[in-house]
Amino acid sequence: MNQIDDAVKAIKSAQRILLATHVVPDPDAIGSTAALGLVLKEHGKSFVIVCDDPVPSDLRFVPGSDLFERSVPDGFSPDLFIGLDASDRERLGKISMPYLNDSALLTINIDHHITNLNYASINLVDPGAAATSELLIRLIDALGIAVSPDIAIALMAALVGDTRAFSTNSVTSKTLAVAARLVESGADVAEIINSVLYRRTVDQLRLWALALNTLQIEDGVIWTVVSHESRKALGLHQKGVNGISNLLLSAEEAAVSATFFEDHEGRVEISFRSRPGYNVAEVALSLGGGGHALAAGCTIDGPIDAAVGRVIGLLKKVERQPPGVE
Ligand code: AMP
Ligand code: MN
Ligand code: MN
Repeated sequence: MNQIDDAVKAIKSAQRILLATHVVPDPDAIGSTAALGLVLKEHGKSFVIVCDDPVPSDLRFVPGSDLFERSVPDGFSPDLFIGLDASDRERLGKISMPYLNDSALLTINIDHHITNLNYASINLVDPGAAATSELLIRLIDALGIAVSPDIAIALMAALVGDTRAFSTNSVTSKTLAVAARLVESGADVAEIINSVLYRRTVDQLRLWALALNTLQIEDGVIWTVVSHESRKALGLHQKGVNGISNLLLSAEEAAVSATFFEDHEGRVEISFRSRPGYNVAEVALSLGGGGHALAAGCTIDGPIDAAVGRVIGLLKKVERQPPGVE
């Protein structure tokens, strides 16, 4: 991938770099972006990291997660923009938009979604990578920066999050080779798995209970709807229902799962999962979102009931593909 050489050149000659990741950030978004921030620090570069949404409290253990800002400081005028773990411009949120719309600004897109729209001047996109961090380590090596224990922990948190502790079918021998390297560089894999996947607040569990209580299944499609109203009634304020689509898909009877989460503005965030052979990325892309064959998402307009009816109709029509095609 000679795009790596272009990215190295662009980073080395930049004076002020703006890093951004996707809205409602997950462990890959936080871990990969924080790791690149730490790399730029080692490199002595001036940089700012932004995300429209805050770092989730359970990811504050990630080294470099304290570098995230909710706005670009006055007077910081970047000469390079780098977006991570986002398949399109919109996914990078409102803060990034003016920079992405500035055609004079050099931009780099580092991502692993099959639905990536190659929105930047330099696109480092590898759908074969299980996480953005798996791809990012190649750039770090090309920059000649050593992987410190803090960088290793951030990259491992990203890898663990997107592979659910190496249990997704996106995991390859390359993923495991990167993981082995991160362990050698100081990442404690067991501790990171526990921190990323098995620590939750009681309110998160209550939200899961609400979601599980109202699940429905028809024709192999299993789904649940978490309305703004139902959360309000229980005094639950979190954004998103992390992990529920995976849990729903553990039902033997299910081939495809979806979680519908109505936000406070009436927009509906949808998270899809499917078993190998079904491609939910196509459905997500057709609705303006994106993702991977087996894990994808989108945000669409309400009202919630109409959104659910429309999307469940599409999911029932998802075709089964021959094994191996993803
Ligand atoms: P999630 O269900 O939130 O874990 O997301 C599953 C996958 O779909 C992740 O790789 C996300 O980055 C991607 N994804 C989720 N929502 C969107 C969206 N609105 N646009 C593009 N990709 C998305
Ligand atoms: Mn992500
Ligand atoms: Mn990712």
